[in-house]
Amino acid sequence: MGNILYRYGSRYYINMTNRCPCRCTFCVRDSTPALGDADNLWLDREPTVSEVEDALLSVDLSQTPEVVFCGYGEPTERFDDLKEIAAFIHDRLHKRVRLDTNGLGSLINGRDIVPEMVGLVDSVSISLNAKDAGEYLDVTRSRFGIESYDAVLRFIEECRKQIDGVTVSIVGGSIPQSSEDECARIADRMGVAFRVR
Ligand code: SF4
Repeated sequence: MGNILYRYGSRYYINMTNRCPCRCTFCVRDSTPALGDADNLWLDREPTVSEVEDALLSVDLSQTPEVVFCGYGEPTERFDDLKEIAAFIHDRLHKRVRLDTNGLGSLINGRDIVPEMVGLVDSVSISLNAKDAGEYLDVTRSRFGIESYDAVLRFIEECRKQIDGVTVSIVGGSIPQSSEDECARIADRMGVAFRVR
């Protein structure tokens, strides 16, 4: 059915959905079927919560500093399941939880999801992708349209206020250098870390 869990470097990543509201011009899904030690990150069907938990119990997590929700889709498409699995990772596996997200989870779920992440997600990496709303729509082709960028900025701001480890990122080379520089300034003004990935 495709890999539910894969290792990349020292971390394990949970691949729980292929759904995503974006079609980014730089999406790695378009160039390779898998990352890390995975064979295939395209899922025939989405794994159940129990199947994800069983996959986590089947690997040696002793050397991994955190478990990451990432994969070939947007994890907040399954936000309620994500919360259940994050609690399992904390309570049963005693590991930190990171969420890699496009920052559109509140639009996807129709409510501000950040307060529900507090205590379950220890750090968040959010794709900023662009310096403004128009550039963002050009590179992500989000189904939410032009309002997407402001939603991402609100998500970043709420995460900064409520969660300790917040990083925003862009994909190097996907936008002009002047836009990359502006993204770094936006991150600085918002008081969050910035990374080119
Ligand atoms: S948000 Fe992530 S998974 Fe979705 S299209 Fe963009 S790069 Fe791919």
